[in-house]
Amino acid sequence: MTRGLLIILSGPSGVGKGTVREELFKDESLNLAYSISMTTRLPRERERDGIDYFFVSQETFEENIEKDELLEHAAFVGNYYGTPKRYVEQLLDEGKNVVLEIEVQGALQVMEKRPDALTIFLVPPSFEELERRIRGRNTETEEVVRERLEKASRELKTKDKYKYVVVNDDVMLAKEKIAEIIKSNLK
Ligand code: 5GP
Repeated sequence: MTRGLLIILSGPSGVGKGTVREELFKDESLNLAYSISMTTRLPRERERDGIDYFFVSQETFEENIEKDELLEHAAFVGNYYGTPKRYVEQLLDEGKNVVLEIEVQGALQVMEKRPDALTIFLVPPSFEELERRIRGRNTETEEVVRERLEKASRELKTKDKYKYVVVNDDVMLAKEKIAEIIKSNLK
């Protein structure tokens, strides 16, 4: 069986990675599997453990780092996020095309370890639009919103490191573009 493709979908917080990813997963011809991340962040309303994330304590997270069980990990606005390695490998072995929806520091780590990963960076149509989206989520304090915006501005500067940059102006158009990119990279 052909090993699956490792796909990194990154971009600044609030750009709409999650929404685009949900649309992508409706397309069964892409044979995708989602890599469920581990985080120390508290669940938002409607988020479920083991589906959206594995919600763990800081202690558990640090144990995973020590045991080298994460493909990458990063601290993001006061919390840890990371990709459990074993699960990703298993899915790739099963021939699935595995999507990591992760922030920039983690994406850069995976690029180093897996230069053949397909890397896609999602950008907002403008910074003003990104701010509107982050504020619209309305789940965070002003301080966290500001931190996310500053971080987003720095993250946007890394876009040249990715194989593909896609503008998320319209979710369905962005999804279509990414689906085409994935198909053209499958053997
Ligand atoms: P949120 O708290 O909004 O769910 O996620 C914050 C940021 O962390 C988002 O940009 C999200 O894509 C990213 N993220 C989610 N899981 C991981 C992961 O496993 N590793 C890394 N590096 N970032 C992640």
